[in-house]
Amino acid sequence: MKFGCEGKDITMEKPCLSIVVPCYNEESVLGAFYEEITKTAESIREKAECEFLFVDDGSADGTLAILKELAEKDERVSYISFSRNFGKESGIYAGLSNAVGDYVVLMDADLQHPPCYIPEMLEALQSGEYDSVAMRRVDREGEGKIRSWFSRMFYKLNKKISGVEIVEGATDFRMMTRQMVNAVLDMPEYNRFTKGIFAWVGFRTKWIGYHNVERVAGETKWSFGSLVKYSINGIVSFSTVPLAVSSFLGVLFCFVAFFMMIWLIIKTLVFGNSVSGYPTIVTLILFMSGLQLMMFGVLGQYVARSYMEGKHRPIYIAREKKVKKHDSHCDQ
Ligand code: UDP
Ligand code: MG
Repeated sequence: MKFGCEGKDITMEKPCLSIVVPCYNEESVLGAFYEEITKTAESIREKAECEFLFVDDGSADGTLAILKELAEKDERVSYISFSRNFGKESGIYAGLSNAVGDYVVLMDADLQHPPCYIPEMLEALQSGEYDSVAMRRVDREGEGKIRSWFSRMFYKLNKKISGVEIVEGATDFRMMTRQMVNAVLDMPEYNRFTKGIFAWVGFRTKWIGYHNVERVAGETKWSFGSLVKYSINGIVSFSTVPLAVSSFLGVLFCFVAFFMMIWLIIKTLVFGNSVSGYPTIVTLILFMSGLQLMMFGVLGQYVARSYMEGKHRPIYIAREKKVKKHDSHCDQ
């Protein structure tokens, strides 16, 4: 029997599990990750065959060389290497679109997504009760206080203003059925906010809580600035409420201005016009122009996104790859 998902034929009983791992400059952890993940694959051997699909997101270190080495010695390993760094969201998309499995699990390379949960996830999907099993962090140990406060605020805000609910602490560590993967791939948008997409496509999801684990080696690729950008993208991708807020504020200030005008006319008629109120006027002008610029900015976010979508640029460009071909069994 062949290893992995290659050469699967229809008569083969065991389903195929694709393990998709986006990697960006992960040379220091890949060895440890591979060791762990192969142990996990061994532990579920009875239930599923595994393929390991690594996406090298334009790493500048030896990540690709390690992946090639792994692919050489283990035919379950596939890889895609991007022409530059496209970001984790593009890595996830490339991984999902090239995975051949009946089930696909997404995980980070740094072992912050403990592979020991995979058997439990697989069991939940194989029971037929769920279409997806997602992991959420129940604490944020090892993460800065300010960072986790902003993160909590983001989830709260997102829940309030967009139709899709993202569970607090939700990670990208998730196993899905082929049907759900196809639904996710049917959303070919350029600005991808995968957490929102997972929530948007629906399906029955089982949530499993786990304690935050620190990176085994290497360092996080997310700066505070990139997290802010990610959050704004998350909100703008799934909600037009900020646009409605600007219309609402516009109407509100028109009303305020109207009543102020009436009050000023009455005041002038009754008390006469003494030239005063300069500070009030300056404050109002500053406030209103600030508000207008801010709302222009909000509008700009949407215009910029539809501009980028309109260009129909590819989500990623692969420089080289070695992937398994979809066959009739896996590619429904
Ligand atoms: N990653 C990626 N492209 C990027 C940034 C990150 O593929 O531009 C990968 C990274 O290699 C890791 C995962 O995404 O496997 C999560 O990244 P990281 O551990 O830096 O994020 P954190 O766990 O700190 O949120
Ligand atoms: Mg990490």
